Amino acid sequence: MAQTNEMKIEFDSRSCNESFARVSVAAFMTQLNPTLEEVADVKTALSEAVTNAIVHGYENEIRKVYVECRVEDQMLTLKVTDYGKGIEDVKKAMEPLFTTKPDTERSGMGFAFMEAFMDEVEVESEPGKGTAVSMKKRIGRTVSEFER
Ligand code: ATP
Ligand code: MG
Repeated sequence: MAQTNEMKIEFDSRSCNESFARVSVAAFMTQLNPTLEEVADVKTALSEAVTNAIVHGYENEIRKVYVECRVEDQMLTLKVTDYGKGIEDVKKAMEPLFTTKPDTERSGMGFAFMEAFMDEVEVESEPGKGTAVSMKKRIGRTVSEFER
């Protein structure tokens, strides 16, 4: 039977809560016995998704950001949801260097980092409704790999 474990957090869309979200997910994933590199990868990907919810989804209005975290065997799944602005063209938004805020310090690399650091990234979004970014990463080795 698959070993599963879940947690959920919600917090105000203030940039000072980004580190709270990063540390919470890092603490939750320690049960998978990850390497430091795996923890760093997940924290980076999570940060990018949370920053996007705050700056693009809510455009700095203070509302709630939701982070759901699930472990199933060695697979870590993260879902970051906002009920903000939404994305018109998800495919285009995910292209490296694409940004709708070129005038600020944004470089359009957030989704590219998420894809580089996680095994799978899926975006569901509807303009005017919000955005959910789901990411998966397989952490560490399975028991059978240890036994080989
Ligand atoms: P960077 O992440 O490098 O600072 P960026 O945020 O513009 O720049 P991405 O994170 O790749 O780059 O996102 C690309 C674009 O997708 C954004 O410019 C924005 O238009 C859109 N986007 C991303 N996430 C959201 C979201 N949660 N809600 C609304 N739009 C979003
Ligand atoms: Mg971004």
